[in-house]
Amino acid sequence: MTGKTHQIIGITSGLAYLLLTLQPIYSPATLATVIVSCHIAALIPDLDRASSMFWNSVPMGKVAGYITELFIKHRNISHSILGILIYFGIARYILYLFPAYWGVNVPTALTSAMIAYCSHLIADMITVQGVPLFFPFKRMFGIPPKPFDGIRIVTGQWFENFVVFPFVNILFTALIWTKWGVIHIILLR
Ligand SMILES: [Zn+2]
Repeated sequence: MTGKTHQIIGITSGLAYLLLTLQPIYSPATLATVIVSCHIAALIPDLDRASSMFWNSVPMGKVAGYITELFIKHRNISHSILGILIYFGIARYILYLFPAYWGVNVPTALTSAMIAYCSHLIADMITVQGVPLFFPFKRMFGIPPKPFDGIRIVTGQWFENFVVFPFVNILFTALIWTKWGVIHIILLR
């Protein structure tokens, strides 16, 4: 899938977790952290591609992306269970550095970020290439599995652009619409 699709799927799924499990103690900082960390987590698996949206959005990203691409093949460790565990360790470390007075609910932000990261892998699994889920084993896995892989979608083609992307945008809008009362409480309490 392309960056824009990963972005909207990641933010929608991570935010859905926050809004569906919301506790009255949550602060606006938790909402902001969830949005930012889901955004990053949804794009970070494609760090291994110079043209990825992640590199486009950071300073000197293009150069860093080309250097990374020289060493790592696309859809590699970052698209595996091992990658999920490594990212969990890094995200957990960073989020627990946040001072307590910021009022960020770290377990919630971490769970949302991991949902967004996993959403990237699941979205890539429904494309023809699949992902090396059990890296370092090179076998690619996808949904549906072989021999039904013929119905999987092609990254950046019409089905992603005209069906998946608009559909997830509608889900995102519906989520904000139905949970607006809750968002309002977090922001204006
Ligand atoms: Zn990917």
